[in-house]
Amino acid sequence: MKITDVKVHILQSQLDQPFAFSQGWVTVRSATIIEVQTDSGLVGWGEAFSQGLESPQVAASAIEHSLKPMLLGQNPTDTEVLWNKMYNQTRDFGRKGSVMAAISGVDIALWDIAGKFYDVPVSQLLGGRFRDVVQPYATGFYRLTGRNEGRRLAEEAIAHEEAGFRSMKIKLGFGVDDDVRVMGHIREAIDGRGVELMVDTNHAYGRTEALRLGRVLDEFDLRWYEEPVPPEDIDGYVELRKKLATPIAGGENEHSMYGFCDLINRRAVDIVQPDIGSCGGITGAKHVAVLAQANGVEVNPHVWGSGIAQAASLQVIAALPNTVHSLYPRQPILEYDRSSHPFRNELVDRALTLNKESMVDIPKSSGLGIEVNQNAIIKYRVN
Ligand code: CA
Repeated sequence: MKITDVKVHILQSQLDQPFAFSQGWVTVRSATIIEVQTDSGLVGWGEAFSQGLESPQVAASAIEHSLKPMLLGQNPTDTEVLWNKMYNQTRDFGRKGSVMAAISGVDIALWDIAGKFYDVPVSQLLGGRFRDVVQPYATGFYRLTGRNEGRRLAEEAIAHEEAGFRSMKIKLGFGVDDDVRVMGHIREAIDGRGVELMVDTNHAYGRTEALRLGRVLDEFDLRWYEEPVPPEDIDGYVELRKKLATPIAGGENEHSMYGFCDLINRRAVDIVQPDIGSCGGITGAKHVAVLAQANGVEVNPHVWGSGIAQAASLQVIAALPNTVHSLYPRQPILEYDRSSHPFRNELVDRALTLNKESMVDIPKSSGLGIEVNQNAIIKYRVN
């Protein structure tokens, strides 16, 4: 089997209601979708991570101009070989950011083809399943006006809980005083409902403010405090981890085994959060999982894309060993984005949904376990 074409679809949709996280206003949802075709007729789908402020064209260009020429004529089931080829041949201008997202999106598509070729889910190719279901956590709590939205965010927490979410992640990073007020409103609203909370500042602060916020957050018994400082400030992560009781999480803006090696070896995080669409794909996540397990660090993937990225994340989660073994280990949880995204669900035949136990079932059909809706590709494509 040989790769005959690599197509890149840039999808975009304006939001009716823009929303903010600590780094800016999101006005459009975007995706870089990769379609790898083969001479066998099998087609694989992948998605490069495109966060709210990231132009999907950058990863698309890296695929079109750098990766595609390396891939044509190659065997798509050579996932590890092609990962190394793509990484090595982009090293001098890649390693981080959108070039790694490009490699990740292609890698996901290659695993999709491999799964379809062997007629097994990707999780089987990864060594099998530790779990068939995963508990979702609601990601939301974006701002619609800016500061002083604590009351509305408290209502949002109730809405997630009533929809079946027992775990949720609050967006902070709008100034420590505003953050503390928001947490107060939310705690009051969900008191006694048994909801588990995490927070995420998207690296809004330097060490001093991150620590000041963290000292307040220590009273909230959070599952984790995500991206407290910029990803480059590994010493800052180390310092916060020493001074705070709350577990520190990070890694959505880190890439490849080399980048994660720093974060993990320097004891910067308790929980590492590779995004399958930017850490290096399914192959990249596999590398990170081994590094983390060997160093006693918990792995909990990050995902903020369309149904394709979510499907890839589910397959990886199924195959993740628990870092520390016990009869009742803490399991990874699935980031379930509840914010506005016009084509996230329309793009696939099997969008994320909660089962009767408010868990998410991990698909067992071949490849990523989803079919892509070509009409949605045409409808939202801008290139
Ligand atoms: Ca985050």
